[in-house]
Amino acid sequence: MKTPLSKLLENTICKNCGGWKGLHHYETMKCPRDGKESKGLNPQLWETTTFRAELTYTESKLLEAIENLENDDNSIPNHAWKLIQQAIKEVKGC
Ligand SMILES: [Zn+2]
Repeated sequence: MKTPLSKLLENTICKNCGGWKGLHHYETMKCPRDGKESKGLNPQLWETTTFRAELTYTESKLLEAIENLENDDNSIPNHAWKLIQQAIKEVKGC
């Protein structure tokens, strides 16, 4: 059974803080302080950095490939183009 890309990304480690993607701020994707969830009743503190995926060699080659896709003539269907752009945005954290 295939694992959706979004599920794989949830388990991805952040290059900036070393924490899991799921520990990052749900709206801003800011890194949790020290890459960890706050303990007990302490409020969660956030770094100024945002999530950035640590990619394997294969993943980095795939990212490079999709970043080089061009759609100036709209030959890639709109829904597919949106998926590509969303994937790049999620992986790069921007
Ligand atoms: Zn982080």
